[in-house]
Amino acid sequence: PFPRNFLVILFMMANLFPDLGKSETLINRCPIPHELSDKLHVDATSIESVSTDYGNIVHNKPAAVLYPTSVQDISSLVKASFMCCVPFGISVRGNGHSTHGQDMAYNGVVVDMKGLRDSGKGISIDKERRFADVGGEQLWIDVLNATVKEGVSAVSWTDYLKLSVGGTLSNAGISGQAFRYGPQISNVYEMDVVTGKGELLTCSRYNNSELFYAVLGGLGQFGIITRARIALDTHINRVRWTQILYSNFSDFIEAEEYYISQLSENEQRINEISYLEGGILFDNGTPNNWRNFFFPPADIPKITSLIKNYGIIYSVEVATTIGSSADKHLQRLMEGLNNVPEYSYAKNVSYVDFLTRVQITVQKNESHPWLNIFIPKSGISDFNSGVFRDIVLKQNITRGPVLFYPMLRDKWDDRMSAVIPDEDIFYAAGILYTSGANDWQVYEDQNKAIMEFCDKYGIEVKQYLPNYATKNEWITHFGSKWATFKQRKALFDPKNIMSPGQRIFNYYL
Ligand code: FAD
Repeated sequence: PFPRNFLVILFMMANLFPDLGKSETLINRCPIPHELSDKLHVDATSIESVSTDYGNIVHNKPAAVLYPTSVQDISSLVKASFMCCVPFGISVRGNGHSTHGQDMAYNGVVVDMKGLRDSGKGISIDKERRFADVGGEQLWIDVLNATVKEGVSAVSWTDYLKLSVGGTLSNAGISGQAFRYGPQISNVYEMDVVTGKGELLTCSRYNNSELFYAVLGGLGQFGIITRARIALDTHINRVRWTQILYSNFSDFIEAEEYYISQLSENEQRINEISYLEGGILFDNGTPNNWRNFFFPPADIPKITSLIKNYGIIYSVEVATTIGSSADKHLQRLMEGLNNVPEYSYAKNVSYVDFLTRVQITVQKNESHPWLNIFIPKSGISDFNSGVFRDIVLKQNITRGPVLFYPMLRDKWDDRMSAVIPDEDIFYAAGILYTSGANDWQVYEDQNKAIMEFCDKYGIEVKQYLPNYATKNEWITHFGSKWATFKQRKALFDPKNIMSPGQRIFNYYL
């Protein structure tokens, strides 16, 4: 019944497009440069390896995984998508530590940066000029190990170091040093970026500055960071690591703010470490996370009954260069400001041991429904009573550390894409749950209740490592930065190729 010509055309099509009809994926419809053929993997093991992340909540399968061995491979892949009439999405997997699928690309391609890390290059140190050129694929732990050998190290860290440089710079990179040196994005001089058009551009505050500001905190939306030049300082060998417990929220806040106000300005920067974070210990019957605490075993019964008495105990954690001005200010905290703290403990450790204090083992049957938010100072008291006491303590499901510590807005650069509250002092709260792989929804519901509480009481929080489902939520999140964010997207990734897993411009996923 078919005309002969039609059958001939079908035969030709099948030869020209052997994958046509076999799969729905967009990548099959785009010409892929032959030099990538060995590096693009479609086997089940490769696909599976990038279809989940640390969160173990979202699972999206890409059509293929690219294991690049050069920046050129990344650029060729992005160009192939950009030139295609129906482009495919491309995500980057730095080290897969996202919690809600931000590093995935449903039906697209995931660039697994492990391929570049494996090549063993990627960190070059200029000790004299105090910077390191670091591949976006490198892990911070490797940056630490390489720089320490040269007697230098980065100034601003994350708590956990098996995170990639590109991954933390796409968010902000925060820890207890941020109040003083700013987040990691404030300590970058220059970057190489493969944009959403496949071009490789060098950018800094003075050169392609629009790209520079877009990418820092840009959630992977504008391109792939292949190199970052990061600030270094002299490496300090040993620090005093101190933990101080408070039973009262206002004493805890007073102590945190006293310390950062003394050290944020005009203090000698060279040869001095100052780090401050706060943590919260709940008496809610679920395993508490004391893994970073070094209470002497003999004191644990007393601390346990303190937590039972008060329901919540607040902890200030400080690291200082021994004998420095930071150490002097720490003494005041331990002696007490208005109130004497309940307990304090100190020990001297190597700075490397301090920086590598967070060690994590992940079980297959676990999920991590985390909530990280920045809270303006004006809202923290309501947050303490409405969220910590009325939601977290009462709901009794917290399993994992809860962090709470201040930052200063002036250490952040408003031209960058990262979003923070509009007040001089704001707090980072990290509610870092571990749930079973099948019961994360209860925790996500609690996270929702926390966000709704803030909304209801007008506390203008901003999510860190944001996770939203609708376009309107993203617009609210970016607030006054949304127009610029959108313009920059049109400039550097006009075909919406980059980082579909964030669901900002690909909210149909
Ligand atoms: P991935 O999860 O692989 O990627 C995350 C996002 O970054 C994706 O959207 C991806 O597209 C983008 N991306 C990755 N690499 C690049 C690149 N080269 N160029 C452009 N975009 C890129 N954060 C902190 O700030 N401080 C902490 O102390 C901290 N501790 C953590 C501890 C643990 C155990 C975990 C799981 C996370 C922690 N995080 C922390 C969050 C972490 O910064 C983010 O998960 C971040 O995404 C880095 O993880 P990653 O390198 O595995 O990136």
